[in-house]
Amino acid sequence: MERHSVEVEVLFSCAGIATAILVNFGPIHILVDAGDGTLRDLLRIGVPPQKLAGVLLTHGHSDHVAGLYALLGYLRAEAFTGVFNLVYPAGCCEVEALLKAFYKCYSDTIGFQIRRYPLKDKDTLKIGSVHVQSWKMLHWHSVAGNPLAPAPALGFRLTYQAQAVAITGDTAFFPELVEFVKDADIAVIDATLDTPLPGTNTYVHLTIEQAQKLAGLARRGILVHRKS
Ligand SMILES: [Zn+2]
Repeated sequence: MERHSVEVEVLFSCAGIATAILVNFGPIHILVDAGDGTLRDLLRIGVPPQKLAGVLLTHGHSDHVAGLYALLGYLRAEAFTGVFNLVYPAGCCEVEALLKAFYKCYSDTIGFQIRRYPLKDKDTLKIGSVHVQSWKMLHWHSVAGNPLAPAPALGFRLTYQAQAVAITGDTAFFPELVEFVKDADIAVIDATLDTPLPGTNTYVHLTIEQAQKLAGLARRGILVHRKS
């Protein structure tokens, strides 16, 4: 079997605006998060949505899912007839509502199958030949930086031909993150905060310092989701 080395392309990542990360295990493309502009960025690099083995959404915040509707609309308009594998956290209201709206408008003319995988902590799944494991993350719905309620959020650990990629999505620090990123060939880590939030013990994201420490546990670390 031909051996492929893994590559990660951060198509775009900026807190509050959009994030889209493409993981390429040779010819197998897996998209993690689909913020606004994802379709445009995929087409620009020659990976149209038809070529995606799966789309994995870490959580339902708009900067991570706003581009999902565009992907679905494009596949319908292109008369795609294959399977669209969609992984997201169980209980993710935003993704369920978005799919419902898509079916409500177009149920008679969707020629492809959307295979849904709502996952919980430590669920496993095979997408093509890629092994996916979901890890529960610690993230919150927030307004103006103030935490409101916990958001269903997952990180994903992807393994293919003994190569591992760990992608945190948005998360605050918790000790299990060390295990999550350890020995990954590539770890993609939330690094939104410049400093810890003052006057609160509830964090919505990792600080750059926390992210740098975690990145040091992987063979290669990529910090994402900085504020503009
Ligand atoms: Zn978020």
